[in-house]
Amino acid sequence: MSLSHASILILGAGLQGAGIALELGRRGIAVTLLDQDPVAMNRASLRNEGKIHLGLIWANASFETAALQLDGALRFRSILERWLGSDEWLSLSTPFHYLVAADSVLAPDDLAVHYEKIQERCRRELDAHPELDYLGQRPHCLYRRSTADEIATHFDEGALSAAFATSELAIDPAPLAIALRMAIERCDKITFLPSRTVREIADTGGGYRVAGDGADGAWCLHARQVVNATWERRLALDQQVGLAPPTDLLHRLKYRVLARLPDELRGAPSVTMVLGRYGDVVVRPDGTAYLSWYPVGLRGWTHDIEPPRAWDAACRGEVPEDEARDIAGRIQGAIDAWYPGIARATPLQVDAGAIVALGRSDVDDAASGLHDRSRIGVTSCGGYHSVEPGKLTTAPRIALDAADRVEAFDRERSPS
Ligand SMILES: Cc1cc2nc3c(=O)[nH]c(=O)nc-3n(C[C@H](O)[C@H](O)[C@H](O)COP(=O)(O)OP(=O)(O)OC[C@H]3O[C@@H](n4cnc5c(N)ncnc54)[C@H](O)[C@@H]3O)c2cc1C
Repeated sequence: MSLSHASILILGAGLQGAGIALELGRRGIAVTLLDQDPVAMNRASLRNEGKIHLGLIWANASFETAALQLDGALRFRSILERWLGSDEWLSLSTPFHYLVAADSVLAPDDLAVHYEKIQERCRRELDAHPELDYLGQRPHCLYRRSTADEIATHFDEGALSAAFATSELAIDPAPLAIALRMAIERCDKITFLPSRTVREIADTGGGYRVAGDGADGAWCLHARQVVNATWERRLALDQQVGLAPPTDLLHRLKYRVLARLPDELRGAPSVTMVLGRYGDVVVRPDGTAYLSWYPVGLRGWTHDIEPPRAWDAACRGEVPEDEARDIAGRIQGAIDAWYPGIARATPLQVDAGAIVALGRSDVDDAASGLHDRSRIGVTSCGGYHSVEPGKLTTAPRIALDAADRVEAFDRERSPS
């Protein structure tokens, strides 16, 4: 077993871990970043919908969740630009229409009250902070009711009670992943160790012993500080250093389909159906779309401290061909019932991601904890920092907090 030292060790090279590494690198602080996969940005941060949440979806929670998402969204582009040096990775979807299902957990008027509150807050934030933007834009109007004609042009109204046209957008996570991998490679302060799975962490008094296995066999590292950004494996590792998991933890495995749209749907509206067990269509500028339909795509549910390893293959993008064909056919069929034409899209890829959240019941229960995403951020215990990004939207913002914690810990311990 090889044994070496890293002064700051970051576990997990998704957007959260990679972002913390790049931020510390920018501040001139050397870090070691490791991941179980052969490349960075290969899991949830790659295989997600890419929506940069303004907070609209969080209508059935305390306003804190929406406010946190809005805060992350208004900083998302500029923080990434600071790490990546440009906006070339920014590939934007068409704006989202929020279609209100007939059996939505909230009625259209209640949704409108929430959207208005977010719009007011967004305007206040943009007025007070000229440096903020939403993916390069400074929108004044975030939503309006769609007209009956607009709805009829694109959607089957049968299942809907109303619709809102919004300014919400999604990015394509694939070009972002490429740009982040290149930035990690370019940064001389980051040592990236791929193909290393962390199995054990122990507090040694003056630091941490982190051990695991991987392509080259067993390994062990000693670090003065550890940052845990391993998403669905995070809480199981935290437990080893004495951090107790939340009691209402939930991991869900959710599949997505990437498909090439028929010509007549190029540039069509992106859609989120609210509020319950529905789905999304994200129309991208390259003629492809992200498709999800919750009742079909949700294929794993556990309150265990970590998901079973059987979820790993799909989360790495490996889904057997016949299973992928079946999932794509069923997701496209279900969406086609209200978004005509989607069944004619050509599936290109089917894979999955783990969603980490807190809750006991599903999203069609108005009282479910899943409607809340406010318990996010950095938990520190000495030189050990556990980072819960909540969403892709909030990960860059939270990376800055995590970098501050790491820097502060070193400052406190360095002789003045
Ligand atoms: C289907 C789906 C759709 C989503 N849509 C959106 C959306 O539209 N908007 C939004 O804001 N958010 C969305 N999210 C949430 C978002 O993807 C996550 O919040 C975010 O990507 C988490 O970032 P992360 O870096 O913590 O996780 P990851 O990107 O998963 O990174 C964690 C890394 O840790 C590594 N790792 C894990 N365990 C170990 C170990 N033991 N040893 C070594 N390495 C390990 C993994 O290989 C991985 O690279 C979605 C999630 C899913 C699954």
